[in-house]
Parts: sequence; C-alpha cells; structure tokens
Amino acid sequence: FSRLTLEDTSRDELVEMGRTFNDMIALLESNYLKQEKFVSDASHELRTPLTVIESYASLLKRRGLTHPELFNESVEAIHSEAIRMKELTEQLLLLAKHHEQWDLSMKVVDLQELATASAKVFRNAYGREVTVNAQGEVRGFSDEAKLRQLLFIFLDNARKYSDEAITITLGASGQESHIVITDRGIGIPSGELPRVFDRFYRVDEARGRQGGGAGLGLSLAAEIAEAIGAKLSMESVEGAGTSVMIRIAAENRGRQ
Ligand code: ADP
Repeated sequence: FSRLTLEDTSRDELVEMGRTFNDMIALLESNYLKQEKFVSDASHELRTPLTVIESYASLLKRRGLTHPELFNESVEAIHSEAIRMKELTEQLLLLAKHHEQWDLSMKVVDLQELATASAKVFRNAYGREVTVNAQGEVRGFSDEAKLRQLLFIFLDNARKYSDEAITITLGASGQESHIVITDRGIGIPSGELPRVFDRFYRVDEARGRQGGGAGLGLSLAAEIAEAIGAKLSMESVEGAGTSVMIRIAAENRGRQ
C-alpha cells in the first residue's frame, strides 16, 4: 500500500483527510498481515498430520500386503491423525467466522448440571477423574452450548497438562457466578501466561505435543468468552498447576 502525503500547509480538511486515509491504510495493513499469518500458520498445522497420513498410506501401499504387522500401526496412526485434522479444521472454521456472526441463544443455565454432565463425559472418554464442588444451586446467564465448549477447552487442557484429578468449583458472589477449573499439572511459567491466549501459541513445542494441540484452544476460548460476555482469568504456578476462572452474569441483566 502506498501512503498519501499532504503538506501541513494544505487546508485543514485536506490534512484531516490525509490522516484518516493513512489510519485506514494502517488498519487494512494490520488486518491483511494478520490474516496472511493466520493462513500460513493454519496451513503449517494441517500439513503435519497430512504428512504422517501420506507416509503411512504409502507404506501400506508398498508393503502392506507382504508385511501384515505394519497394518495395525499404520491404520492406528492414520486414524488418529485424521481425527486431529478434523478437530483442527473445526477450530479453524469457528475462528475464521467472527463471533458476531455466531448464532447465540442466551438463557439461564444450571451450572451444576452443566459441570456434572461435562465431568461425566471426561470420565468416560478419557478415564480422568473430575470432581465438581458446588454449594447449593448455581445459575448463570449464557449460551449453554458455547459455555459447554468453553468449559471443555479448559478441561481438555487440564487433562493434557496434568495427570492428577481435575476439579470444577462453582460459586456465586453478588450478581456474578463463576466456574473454576483447577489442575495440579505442569503449570505455565509466569512470563508465558500473557501469551497463551494467542493463536497457535504453545509454551513449549516439545512438552505435551503428543496431546496433539495446535495452540488454538485458548484463542478460541477468548473468542467464545467475548461472544457470550464471560470474563476469563488464569493463574498458574510452574510445576504446581493451573486454575482458570470463568465469570458470567448470574441472571439476565441486559435488555432482551
Ligand atoms: P494447545 O492446543 O497447545 O493445548 P491452547 O491454546 O489450548 O493450545 O494452549 C496454549 C498453551 O498454553 C499450551 O500449548 C500449553 O503450553 C499452555 N497451557 C494451556 N493450558 C494449560 C494447563 N492447564 N496447564 C499447563 N499448560 C497449559
């Protein structure tokens, strides 16, 4: 993009117009570059599982019939990489569509029911113990499906980056309700904490890579939180564990 230069001696309106034009260009450039980076990062992430699928498929083609012992390992690898690609594509599709275009249905949600059902899913799917602590009934005003998705992102991270029990604590204070997800896992170094919500950011590429994350979970969480009006805060101690708090309105305070 080329910039418009106007002499300061020009008429005020022209100088003003020049400034507006340049601001607009700067905005366009930043969005353009961001988008370009997004596309190249996304392509890079999709290429990794595709390469694995391609090499196992070619191995099967060349030696599958003569070496039956290769069969299980190859099919297993192709299957798990395909699942990873599917999850990644779903995350990318959600992120590509700005949250203002999402269909939301805000209503009063029973948080205890939501937490208990989510804990059950995690127990069944991953064999991980998830304890729910709540004193009495806790309700929140939210889009139920998106809130569940938000909770799942944090539970999934708690599962990937810890080996011990995960806790969900529910509570309310004043007009606000909260959901806290706590793990006693590897934690996040304090200097990294502000960056973990960035797209494709991972604290350490080596650790937990087998979990298969692409560093998109938390950026999606931030997007969902903005859409449903939830506030997120994260505390972590390296080597001790991580705790995430989701705060939402206890009831509908806005206009219908
Ligand atoms: P990923 O798919 O890599 O898990 P996320 O966006 O969900 O991506 O998280 C970004 C990074 O933040 C992770 O790669 C991990 O290093 C760190 N992280 C997130 N949650 C936790 C947690 N509960 N414990 C330790 N590290 C975490």
